[in-house]
Amino acid sequence: MTSSSTDTPAPVLVLVPGAAGTPHDGSAPFRLADPAVPQLSITDLVATRGDGIFETIGAFDGRPINVGPHLARLARSASLLQMPAPHQETLLAAIDAAIEAHADVPELTIRVMYTRGIEGAGTPTCWIDAHVSDDWAPYRRGIRVAALDRGLSTAVPETSPWLLPGAKTLSYAVNMAAVREAKRRGAQDALFVATDGYVLEGPTSTLLVRRGDAFLTTPVSAGVLPGTCVTTLFTALQDEGHEVREQLMTVADVAGSDGAWLLSSTRLAAPITHLDEAELPLDLELTERFEALLSGRA
Ligand code: PLP
Repeated sequence: MTSSSTDTPAPVLVLVPGAAGTPHDGSAPFRLADPAVPQLSITDLVATRGDGIFETIGAFDGRPINVGPHLARLARSASLLQMPAPHQETLLAAIDAAIEAHADVPELTIRVMYTRGIEGAGTPTCWIDAHVSDDWAPYRRGIRVAALDRGLSTAVPETSPWLLPGAKTLSYAVNMAAVREAKRRGAQDALFVATDGYVLEGPTSTLLVRRGDAFLTTPVSAGVLPGTCVTTLFTALQDEGHEVREQLMTVADVAGSDGAWLLSSTRLAAPITHLDEAELPLDLELTERFEALLSGRA
């Protein structure tokens, strides 16, 4: 495992249950490995510092969705963290190999992990892990969401880019802590709020808000991740004549909207039934259409 630049394909480990010792028969520099067998060095900077980036891709009925945009975002995160650019063709081939090697399942989660590598080596470590997705059906029917202070303003990309707003880093402990706090408050997920009062994104999702015929999301310039799902839905909605745009919104704006969702590549579209105590309108028909579009089953 390890290494990469745009010009030099990097060895990539593809971790698939039951694929232990399977050689890859093509020329691509990756091999299949068993995730039950330890693979990562204890001096990898992701283990010692949480220093790395990742992508999570959904594959539905064996078809991975939005692979190009996910790999483009991985390259964007690498650039923000001043890491070597991941080798796109290798990753594309390795993602296909991961799906092929896995048992056929309706919903697969593909994680592409890319770390700063072993201390002192200067070359990234990269692996792809394919596993059956969690059962997200209850989330797709509706979730209660708690608005939680993120402790950062929407100006962070301008004032303090070293805080890595908008990079999908492997330091997700804060994001996971926010989900635990949301659950402690009786919700299923969180919506981060900036110190200047504007809503940002979920810990693992993008916010989509409906206002009449218009669909809105938080501007990427406010420090959120550029979501692949919101881009898919914006393209489809725009084709149907809806207005779509980025806009700064407050908690009250979302609470008083005509509907809101948290979007992500494996969970798809989770409609928000409540934001804290405020009840939001629920459109299950529209949600099902979003789900079909995001899973490629439309
Ligand atoms: N925002 C954050 C912080 C995320 O972690 C994710 C997904 O993991 C998203 C947004 C949604 O991105 P996508 O639609 O590409 O899955």
